[in-house]
Amino acid sequence: MSNTAASASVDVVIVGAGPAGLTAAHLCHRLGLSAIVLEQRDGPQRSPAAHAVNARTFEIWRQAGVDMDRVLAAALSPDEAGLVHWVTKFGGEIVGTLPYERQGDEMLAITPTPLRNLSQHRLEPLLLSPELDVHYAHRWIDAEETADGVEVTANGPDGPVHFTAKYLLGADGAASAVRRSLGVELIGPRSLQSFVAIHLAADFRAFMGGMPGVLYFVLDPASGGTFISHGCEREWVYMHPRDPDTQPAENLTSDHGAALVRAALADPGAAFEVLTIGTWHMSAQIADHYRSGRIFLVGDAAHRFPPTGGLGLNTGVADVHNLIWKLAAVENGRLGPSVLDTYEAERRPVAQFNCDQSMHNAFKLIEIPMALGASDDVEESTAAMHATLADPAGRAAVQAAIANQAIHFDLLGLQLGHTYSGPLVLDDGTATPTLDEPARDYVPSTRPGGRLPHAWLPDGRSTLDLIDIALPTLLVRDGSPSGAIGGSWLEVSCPTGVWDDTFGLAADECLIVRPDQHVAFRGAINGSRAALTQLLGSHDDAPARER
Ligand SMILES: Cc1cc2nc3c(=O)[nH]c(=O)nc-3n(C[C@H](O)[C@H](O)[C@H](O)COP(=O)(O)OP(=O)(O)OC[C@H]3O[C@@H](n4cnc5c(N)ncnc54)[C@H](O)[C@@H]3O)c2cc1C
Repeated sequence: MSNTAASASVDVVIVGAGPAGLTAAHLCHRLGLSAIVLEQRDGPQRSPAAHAVNARTFEIWRQAGVDMDRVLAAALSPDEAGLVHWVTKFGGEIVGTLPYERQGDEMLAITPTPLRNLSQHRLEPLLLSPELDVHYAHRWIDAEETADGVEVTANGPDGPVHFTAKYLLGADGAASAVRRSLGVELIGPRSLQSFVAIHLAADFRAFMGGMPGVLYFVLDPASGGTFISHGCEREWVYMHPRDPDTQPAENLTSDHGAALVRAALADPGAAFEVLTIGTWHMSAQIADHYRSGRIFLVGDAAHRFPPTGGLGLNTGVADVHNLIWKLAAVENGRLGPSVLDTYEAERRPVAQFNCDQSMHNAFKLIEIPMALGASDDVEESTAAMHATLADPAGRAAVQAAIANQAIHFDLLGLQLGHTYSGPLVLDDGTATPTLDEPARDYVPSTRPGGRLPHAWLPDGRSTLDLIDIALPTLLVRDGSPSGAIGGSWLEVSCPTGVWDDTFGLAADECLIVRPDQHVAFRGAINGSRAALTQLLGSHDDAPARER
């Protein structure tokens, strides 16, 4: 994977070859920025972590040039991963069930790429490609900012190596050394709860009661935890709460992990193999700032959410989608360096919203053990669970508590609906739509700040495919030339059906869409020239391109 010699000079050094770092590398490549990725591991991640990859992330990878056929082929089918179950034990009684996000074909009206479950350890190798310059076994150790760049030092297999870059991206995960080197504080609780994660090779299809799901929450108070399917006939993770004071990580042997799994299975004699065993803390923290000069924090280096929302990986991918086109625009002289301040201003509020919802989801789950009559005493709680489920009114209360978790697993609004404001968005004076549940509800809109709505074009492309990855795109209705003369933008006409039905705009209106597919301006065509001038500042001397 490594193309660049040690001591090279590049536009961007990316620390970390996780999902955020590798997406950044793809975007740099598409935008003509030279980039190298430094990764301390000797190869891609081998154990599962994230599994929910949402529609927006796939949309971004489509635009970034990732091989989507390979990526989607590796995802679990919605038939196998479309449900969440609550069970007494895994393989025991299913007490309640909810849909796991919206994965059906009806979603194709809203996005070209609906959410899928795709294990991070299968995904990461698919994000590699020959044109990316990824240096495994290279641990970043230091960066020094100079007047016009950053001097970067890493430890490679043959000793220290040095790179000169214009920008450094800390995509180095939750424990980010880049973040610590900048003295950036994390705001929020570091450890809400601790878990042991046991990675298993197992065929548990027989335990799924003919209704395969991606998550199984075990209600049994003595063994409670969550089984996560990474392909029900081959790989699972069992997540079990632990007390770090009484169960130090070094005491967690494979035998101990296997005993925890057996306790949570209705058939403790079932066959499985413990592959790895690890520990992690559930955190809810956001960096107090995302930028220091030419150094930027992205992904988990900038924010750590509880996994109860499936948002960590997805938010990191959207971070770099917001940032990389701006770096390219500054390097190409199309925008001034102050535009780089909009990265934190636009992305930090999104991280806060995602973090808050993930934390809300985590705490709301407590309603279920409460409905089961759980207390601090495990034996009493077990007896209460059996008594509650034997009583029709008690069972109904537990099922109501489960039904009450629906939004936790239905976060479309949060996945597609985030909007930006600030100097790269021209407010058109319309009110923000009021939604019953902003985390759940998504209403496609061309209102400035939001993602351009998707619709299929007659030629099989998506409206999102009309947007240039480097330049602002001026979208007009077929047959309505803008008449705007001069400027560094691309002018594209949109079929009348989509314009009228999906966008709901008049023939004399236009949209200006940023390279990250977010609308920057909506208004009269004869206002487009002034809008472009305002958005591009004084950097708009080149003639418009058309296609
Ligand atoms: C149990 C669990 C379930 C989850 N489920 C979901 C989910 O369903 N959906 C979702 O969106 N998110 C989920 N997440 C969160 C998700 O895994 C993370 O948010 C995601 O991995 C963050 O990606 P990243 O690229 O920012 O960082 P990482 O994936 O952590 O990558 C950082 C990389 O930087 C490397 N690195 C670190 N320091 C250095 C250094 N000094 N030099 C060189 N390299 C370095 C690391 O080795 C690592 O490869 C889950 C997390 C957990 C624990």
